Amino acid sequence: MTAEIIDGKAFAARVREQVATHVAKLKEENDLTPGLAVVLVGEDPASQVYVRSKGKQTVEVGMKSVEHKLDVDASEAELLDLIDQLNTDPTIHGILVQLPLPKHLDEDLVINSIDPAKDVDGFHISNVGLLGTGQKSMVPCTPLGCLMMLRDYHGDLSGMNAVVIGRSNIVGKPMANLLLGDSCTVTVAHSRTKDLPDVVRGADIVVAAVGRPEMVPGDWIKKGATVIDVGINRIPAPEKGEGKMKLVGDVDFTSAAKVAGAITPVPGGVGPMTIACLLANTLTACCRSAGLPEPSGLTA
Ligand code: NDP
Repeated sequence: MTAEIIDGKAFAARVREQVATHVAKLKEENDLTPGLAVVLVGEDPASQVYVRSKGKQTVEVGMKSVEHKLDVDASEAELLDLIDQLNTDPTIHGILVQLPLPKHLDEDLVINSIDPAKDVDGFHISNVGLLGTGQKSMVPCTPLGCLMMLRDYHGDLSGMNAVVIGRSNIVGKPMANLLLGDSCTVTVAHSRTKDLPDVVRGADIVVAAVGRPEMVPGDWIKKGATVIDVGINRIPAPEKGEGKMKLVGDVDFTSAAKVAGAITPVPGGVGPMTIACLLANTLTACCRSAGLPEPSGLTA
């Protein structure tokens, strides 16, 4: 068996198109432009790349994009003051503080100072609680992207056995809550899980969010299962030349693709969906703030 490849890049392009169409309609019919503010503290090169990419895609779908860059040694008061201003700015509907923050800043305090209605990352404690209790919330972008791909591929997820490997606040836990919300039977595995291979072998859906290159081999995967690989790991690629690197997921793609029914590649799977879902969340936040109907299919 060779798995169907779930093309996250193509899916993300469709999501962006849908967002762009809705943004154009909002402008025309309501004279409203969704705005996303991204706050970057310091000069972490990976964060700078993400922020640039987010800004570019925000503009491409017709939204307003604002970037705020603070010095690496910016004080907590300075950052909280900026968030306060963005919270009250009527042209800004989504606020994202790029993580990780420099060590001297209290990440929880900063995230929880964002207006929950503008918390397009879905990390504010209110949104975490709303998601956990099955209420309307802002949903973290990466798990939302995974859910969209699973719904698109399967339609109804009800009754399926899902295993989420990883219990982080940004991926594993919200993913588990979303799958529960779609009536899967969910197991959350982590570094202390016993007999992980057997746990994974029972799953119709496997979501791997660990951060360990190619940790999940094909012989852990049930025949025909759907595999969503969230992992992004940079490893040496001597076959490409000396000093070259490549990206791999948490799943050993080659062996897993031989048994799975469907699988997301790395790169080109979950990654592109994350920014697409950030744009979708900004649009959703804008519609909610204006009391307008939300676009369908773009939230949980
Ligand atoms: P974290 O490091 O926060 O969490 C990793 C989780 O994996 C933890 O719950 C940990 O368990 C678990 N784990 C570690 N080792 C094992 C093991 N041997 N067996 C089972 N579980 C294990 O990572 P994130 O959730 O932030 O990210 C996970 C991966 O997803 C990373 O590769 C990251 O780069 C990628 N990522 C990709 C995104 C995208 O856009 N595609 C977005 C966000 C993340 P424990 O809790 O017990 O320590």
